[in-house]
Amino acid sequence: MENMNDTLLKRFVSYATTWTTSDLEKADAGIMPSTDRQADFARTLKNELHSIGISDVTITEHAYVCARLPATKGCEKAPVVGFLAHMDTAEEVSGENVKPNIVKNYDGSVLNIGNGIVLDPAKDAALAAAKGETVITTDGSTLLGADDKAGIAEIMTAMEALIADKDAKHGTIEIIFSPDEETGHGMDYVPTDWLTAKQCYTLDGGHVGELETECFTAYKCDVNFTGVACHTGTARGIMANAITMASAFVSMLPQNESPEATDGYYGFYAPMDMTASIENAHVLLYLRDFTMEKMQRRLDTVDIIAKAIEARFNGGKVEVVHTKQYLNMKEELDKNPAVVEKLVQAAKLAGAEPVFSPIRGGTDGSRLTEMGIPTPNIFTGGHNFHSRSEWVSLDQMNTATKLVIELAKLWAN
Ligand SMILES: [Zn+2]
Repeated sequence: MENMNDTLLKRFVSYATTWTTSDLEKADAGIMPSTDRQADFARTLKNELHSIGISDVTITEHAYVCARLPATKGCEKAPVVGFLAHMDTAEEVSGENVKPNIVKNYDGSVLNIGNGIVLDPAKDAALAAAKGETVITTDGSTLLGADDKAGIAEIMTAMEALIADKDAKHGTIEIIFSPDEETGHGMDYVPTDWLTAKQCYTLDGGHVGELETECFTAYKCDVNFTGVACHTGTARGIMANAITMASAFVSMLPQNESPEATDGYYGFYAPMDMTASIENAHVLLYLRDFTMEKMQRRLDTVDIIAKAIEARFNGGKVEVVHTKQYLNMKEELDKNPAVVEKLVQAAKLAGAEPVFSPIRGGTDGSRLTEMGIPTPNIFTGGHNFHSRSEWVSLDQMNTATKLVIELAKLWAN
């Protein structure tokens, strides 16, 4: 390949200008992909994979693009490695009619990108650090979709480079471009029967060097309150008001362990929804932490507060249902240390300084990790995801692409 930056830029702009917004409501209703435009994009990617020389490409009925690059001669027994990125963009901001704005050799100044959106390096340390790089922004009217089209462009370009380099040695590589990550359903129909890799990597992260090997352990609690209704004029000693019970419950949650009061490795209790009448109330509560021991403390606390509310409201009943949502991938990754070791090695070979930061959320990778396929997340060079201020650095995309190439080679040994 003559110039990787030119290839990456061309690819990224063509993906970013393709409208692939997903639809949460449809995805929640079990429709996958949630929008036809993702299936259209899947077909475009399939053709492109063919054109770079990968013949083994299939699209599943749920629009997962699955491609397999065979091992080079002598590396047939090397472990199979998977790379994943998602095709959809978030619904919060329009992803239709994206007009990427390319700022070559960014001079570190305030970027007035249009439609009232201003990118100020004084308020955005990552942007300040991108001085001298090629920065791609929007025109302020849409998101950019670097989340996660930067990831797709990087995987595609890395595969093209591996195929072009006749000296490169690698094992079998499996690629999945998935729909509906942003709706939280990205791994619902992941073709586990097609995937043979025992280790995968998602390219869906941020600033250059950032590697994510830890995420939240997540539970939700449905707390149901049953009151005793009667005429308010004759309620003394009889009524138990479920509205008051639910409110008291929420106010007893530790305020200093809420999402708005925590960061880093500090977990939280987050009331997400409440419906209430005198007879019945329901509170949906999200619990987040990083270890199961710490999560157990939160689950126990919820049960104790529920008991306390029951004791406070004569005749009232409180019932709690705990449901696991996803687990921190660290435990599974620790069982297979080569996955992170090779990742760190590849990052350094690509010229990036590895930085580990915990994900205060879950990823497609955490779902895969839970299915027994350890899957850390790698930076893409994208920033300010899900907003009109979204931007990506072409230089950082280049580093991510090199990282994928190095990683593929390292697994051949
Ligand atoms: Zn993403």
